[in-house]
Amino acid sequence: MFPQLSEEVFPAPIKSVEAGSAAERAGVRPGDQLLRVNGQSVTDVLAYRHLLSQGKAALEISRPAAVPFFATPQDHHTIKMGEAAQTFFFEVEWEDPGLEFEEVLFDGIKKCANKCDFCYVHQMPRGFRKSLYIMDDDYRLSFLYGSFVTLTNLTEGDINRILDENLSPLYVSVHSSNQALRQDMMKWWKLKVKDQQATQITGMIERLSSIDLYTQIVLLPQRNDGENFDETLEYLTSRPNVISAAVVPIGLTDHRKNLPDVRPFNKEEAKDVIKRANIWRKKLLAERGTRFIFPSDEFYLLAGEPLPTEEEYEGFPMLENGVGMIRDFLTEGMPALPERLPTPKKVILGTGLLFAESLDLAVEPLRAIEGLEIEVRAIENQTFGKVTTVAGLLTGRCFRAAVKTGEADLLIVPPTTLRYGTELMIDNTSLSELAHTLGMPVKSGGSTLGELARVILGDVVSSGPQFGMSAHAVKENSKIDGSSQA
Ligand code: SF4
Repeated sequence: MFPQLSEEVFPAPIKSVEAGSAAERAGVRPGDQLLRVNGQSVTDVLAYRHLLSQGKAALEISRPAAVPFFATPQDHHTIKMGEAAQTFFFEVEWEDPGLEFEEVLFDGIKKCANKCDFCYVHQMPRGFRKSLYIMDDDYRLSFLYGSFVTLTNLTEGDINRILDENLSPLYVSVHSSNQALRQDMMKWWKLKVKDQQATQITGMIERLSSIDLYTQIVLLPQRNDGENFDETLEYLTSRPNVISAAVVPIGLTDHRKNLPDVRPFNKEEAKDVIKRANIWRKKLLAERGTRFIFPSDEFYLLAGEPLPTEEEYEGFPMLENGVGMIRDFLTEGMPALPERLPTPKKVILGTGLLFAESLDLAVEPLRAIEGLEIEVRAIENQTFGKVTTVAGLLTGRCFRAAVKTGEADLLIVPPTTLRYGTELMIDNTSLSELAHTLGMPVKSGGSTLGELARVILGDVVSSGPQFGMSAHAVKENSKIDGSSQA
């Protein structure tokens, strides 16, 4: 017997059932839905796993109407269409039932309660896939996939759950330890904030003292940089549960809607950010054995300062945040290069305005190869605007505008323009579509210099993965198809 519950149920559609598992033995099939475990409503996979970790678990499964029902896997002759929904139970004890769900969150994604001055969602042009406009701020996705959350939408129940279930680590957007400044930058809607104390970032970091926190600071010029930045770093570095702080500049587009005017960082300001970070990095390395603060590549490029060494990135844990991507790219150098190509070839390397100069220097050794003409083309962003200089936001439209039909034998696009594991750019232009329009092969360049060289040279050197990413980049990109700059 199971208790009758009045609480809301969140049916979780089942994507697949593992062969030979308890669920398969019980006749569960893809398309069925999990309703409850031990009579309790389940909100997400974390709660599901938590309930299973208690030992004995009775799973209540619903089969929606009109789906064929097999009483047992062998009962294939009992297909009945158009029936009312059916519910059945099966039990496991210290055993994984073997269910994979369509979504990890059964009760829907938690949306953010803020309207940040730097919100990327509010700077997106129209017409992209829906997931890019979702203003998610869900601590469960932070734990599962490493997406950054602000914590401003937490309830007391959420906070207790994080602590009770030890949802560690979490990834937190701090921006400033100065409460008034943070509020001014993030402008949360009081009515949407569930628990006012959750907005007190220093109080929350202290309350979550048993949870490891990887933090992020989005810097805006003359807002939270300078002395404010120092104060924030001083606070974060004083908290034992804060593991690191990634520092990224505000990302701007020409499509800011209902947001205050913000300008990009200039060279002097970028230098100042690095200078301040370096003072703390040196101190932290001596005291905690980690540099703790990791400014993004963009700051080094803007400042015209050398990138940190590979060792200084301490394993590249923040590639997704644009921290260390260029150093990661350079870690695998050129393969042995041929003296000449059997047939002459012109190759265009398309990239964003920010990285073009560095890429041009990096590929210099290839220019010694007879018969190979290489041009690094700095491509303006036609979709997001000239102010958007990173390569990852270039679209098919940008390449079509910047490259003439048939003007080269090969066009190479940065792998960061492609959605992970696909050939699709952010505007859904595929590489084959672009190749067809431009009348030349189009390939992804790989994410290390060595891979890029192999893609350029093709059969002349042994080829690497065409859509390859470095081991670090694969780890980072497999986390989630992120949508916001929380
Ligand atoms: S940046 Fe993130 S937290 Fe801020 S408003 Fe946008 S979605 Fe919300």
